[in-house]
Amino acid sequence: MDRSTIRIVIILGLISIIGIVSIQLIWVKKSFDNQDQVFNDRVHIALNSVTEKILTLNKDSADIYNPVMQRGNHFRVQMNDTLHPVLLARLLTEEFTRNNLSRNFEYGIYDCFTDSIVYGGIVDIDSTTDSISRDITGIKWDQDGHSFGVYFPDKDIEIISGMKQWIFTSLTLLLVVLFFVYSMFVILKQKRLSEVKTDFINNMTHELKTPISTISLSSEVLMQEGIAQEPERLKQYAGIIKNENDRLKRQVDKVLQIATLENGEISLRKENLDMHGIIRSALGTLQVMAAEKEGSVELELAADRFEIQGDQVHLTNVIYNLLDNAIKYSERPEVKVITESTAKHFVICFKDNGLGLAREDRDRIFDKFYRVSHGNVHDVKGFGLGLFYVKRILDAHRGRISVTSELGNGSMFKVELPFNQ
Ligand code: ADP
Repeated sequence: MDRSTIRIVIILGLISIIGIVSIQLIWVKKSFDNQDQVFNDRVHIALNSVTEKILTLNKDSADIYNPVMQRGNHFRVQMNDTLHPVLLARLLTEEFTRNNLSRNFEYGIYDCFTDSIVYGGIVDIDSTTDSISRDITGIKWDQDGHSFGVYFPDKDIEIISGMKQWIFTSLTLLLVVLFFVYSMFVILKQKRLSEVKTDFINNMTHELKTPISTISLSSEVLMQEGIAQEPERLKQYAGIIKNENDRLKRQVDKVLQIATLENGEISLRKENLDMHGIIRSALGTLQVMAAEKEGSVELELAADRFEIQGDQVHLTNVIYNLLDNAIKYSERPEVKVITESTAKHFVICFKDNGLGLAREDRDRIFDKFYRVSHGNVHDVKGFGLGLFYVKRILDAHRGRISVTSELGNGSMFKVELPFNQ
C-alpha cells in the first residue's frame, strides 16, 4: 500500500466512524428524551391521582384544573388545601410505586404566600430509615395557600438505567472505534518500519558495496605487471585497500553489534574497567578520521574515580560510536571528551561543534534505524543503529544517556555510568 492509499483509507475510515458515532449520539439523545417524557408523564399521572385522593379525603369538592407544574426535575402541585405530611408521603409513595417511578424522592410543603418551604422530607422506600418515620403526628397545614412539591434526585440515573440496549450498542460501537484506531496505528507503524528497513537495506548495500569495489579495483592495479617497479604507487594502493578494509570492518561490526542485541537479553561479561584507558584506546583510529577532516579530538579526563564494573567490548563500542558520530556529523570537528565523577556516577560528555539536532529528532535518535535527514550533508553514511545500540548497552549497565543540542550549534551527549551496579 502506498502512502496516498493509506491516507485515503484513514480519511474514509475516520469519516465513517464520525458518521456512525454521530448517528448513535443522535439516537441515544432521542431515546433519552423519550424516556424523560415517559417519566414526566408518569409523575403527572401519579401527582394528579394524589391530588384527587387528598381532595376526596378532605371532602373538598373543588375541581382543580391542571394542578401539576414542572420545572426541570421539580414538580409542584397547586392545591390550596389541607395537607398532612405523613399522609402526603404515604400517598406519594403509593402512587409512585403503582406508576413504576423512582423509589427515592424528596418532597416539600410550601406556603404560597411567603413562597417558603414549611415542611420537607426525603423518602427512600428501599431504606427502613426514611425521614417521615419521625413523630410528626398532629402537624398539618390546613389553612389555604399550601401546595406541595416533589423532586427526584435520581431521575437521570433511572432514565439511563432504562436504556440498557442503548448502553450495550454504544459500548459495542466504542469497541469498534477503538479497534479501528488500533488497526490504523498498527498499519502506520508497520508502514514506517518497512520504509525504515528498505532504507537500511539500501544504505547497507551501498556501504558494503563501495569498499568492496574499491578494494577490487585497487587489487587489480596491484596485479598489473611492473607495479613492483613503482613502489610509491604500490604503497598507495595497498594503503587504499587497508583503509577500505578498515571501513568494511567497522560497518560489519556495527551490524554485528545489533545482531547481538537481537538475540534477546544482553549478556555482559563484567570486569573492573579503567574507563580513561578505554576512552584513550577508542580514540586511536578516530583521531586519524578527525585529522582527515582538519579537526581534532581533545580529552579532558578530569574524573578522580574512573574504575567501574562493566563489559569492556560493549563499553568500548559505546564510546567509539559516540566519538565516531561527533566526528561524522561535524564539518570540521572540534570534539571534546570530558569526564568527571560524582558521588554515584562516572560521567562522560562528548561535545562537538557539528550539525546539531532539532528538538523532534533529539527524542527519536535512539530509536532503531532512525536517521536524521541532513539535507545536503546526507552523504554521511550510517545505518541508524549506533545510538540504539548505545542506549541498550547503557540500559544493561544501569546507565543513562542524554543529549543537549541545537540545530546548527553542535551537540553534547552525556553518559552516566553508576559505580555500584
Ligand atoms: P548513524 O550514525 O549510523 O546514522 P546513529 O544511531 O549513530 O546512526 O545516529 C542516529 C542519527 O542521529 C544520525 O543519523 C544523526 O543524524 C544523528 N546524530 C547522532 N549523533 C549526532 C551528533 N553528534 N551530531 C548531530 N547529529 C547526530
